[in-house]
Amino acid sequence: MHPINAYAAEKAKAPLKSFVIQRREPGPHDVVIEILYCGVCHSDVHQARDEWSNGTFPMVPGHEIVGKVTSVGSSVTQHKVGDSVGVGCFVDSCRVCQPCKSHLQQYCEKGMNLTYNGVEKDAKTPTYGGYSTEIVVDENYVLRIPSNLPLDKAAPLLCAGITTYSPLRQWKIKTGDKVAVVGLGGLGHMAVKLAAAMGAEVTVLSTSNKKKDDAMRFGAKNFLNTSDESVFTNHANYFDFMINTAAGNIDLGKYLSMIKLDGTMVCVGVPESPGSLNASALIMKRRSIAGSLIGGLKETQEMLDFCSAHNITSDIELIPVEKINEAYDRMVKGDVRYRFVIDINSLRK
Ligand SMILES: [Zn+2]
Ligand SMILES: [Zn+2]
Repeated sequence: MHPINAYAAEKAKAPLKSFVIQRREPGPHDVVIEILYCGVCHSDVHQARDEWSNGTFPMVPGHEIVGKVTSVGSSVTQHKVGDSVGVGCFVDSCRVCQPCKSHLQQYCEKGMNLTYNGVEKDAKTPTYGGYSTEIVVDENYVLRIPSNLPLDKAAPLLCAGITTYSPLRQWKIKTGDKVAVVGLGGLGHMAVKLAAAMGAEVTVLSTSNKKKDDAMRFGAKNFLNTSDESVFTNHANYFDFMINTAAGNIDLGKYLSMIKLDGTMVCVGVPESPGSLNASALIMKRRSIAGSLIGGLKETQEMLDFCSAHNITSDIELIPVEKINEAYDRMVKGDVRYRFVIDINSLRK
């Protein structure tokens, strides 16, 4: 065990501050990663403030990790010293259940080992995330970051990127499909870039016109301000697919009315309270509503390679770690374009 500089919430709702953690000594299958950048996900705020009531403290958040390999265990074959690598939302899983064997580790029946606010394979040692200078991870749970992607802007791909890429692939989005993206935040802006690169005709649905220029720059063809009720009737039965990234509750029936026969709405954001839905919104056009959780390792690597081929990264605001509490407050107000990323060098003092 050796000590590592980190930033932690020592208890629920406490501001994050400097904290020292221990990382395990690397085993034969482990990769030691010097962390360079860590994206700030909305779920970091929810968990550090214990809004999902599942927090274990002290908590070191961060699951959009990129850095360089500084050493590898004797059996490691997939990574070598100096490689640019990433770690997403989980650092291990049972490896033997059907989802794990099908490259769907995020749906592991035993529960994946979360990168933070979880436990290691021993089922008791708490995991600490990427707001830290170093992490030790089994090589099978480490992703390769393609060399043409800038590391700071690539960090958010590890959660925001894969969370939106996976449903677009699962529902086989292709050239010409009419895709609606609800909400233009960290997830939404990645959904626009990815769906546009897949050839879809992308429309952003937002509650104001403030982000219209950005949406078009990200590759959207249309932008609809949903504070104007006429957009719902004017675009009734229009979309093949809708990805709902809204963190708050929306009127699901109204949004579903814009989806055509056999179309689907996939939800990737979790509102704090349950919404309601009249089944007729589904029945009348045989519509579906579904959910999707991040992606497995194979698909996450595929997403990174897709982003490399299409030169896609996140739009970010790079901050030193001392600004993290201010960043959380700004995220709650939706005041970030479009992802905060921590420059982890600010922790090396
Ligand atoms: Zn996340
Ligand atoms: Zn499993």
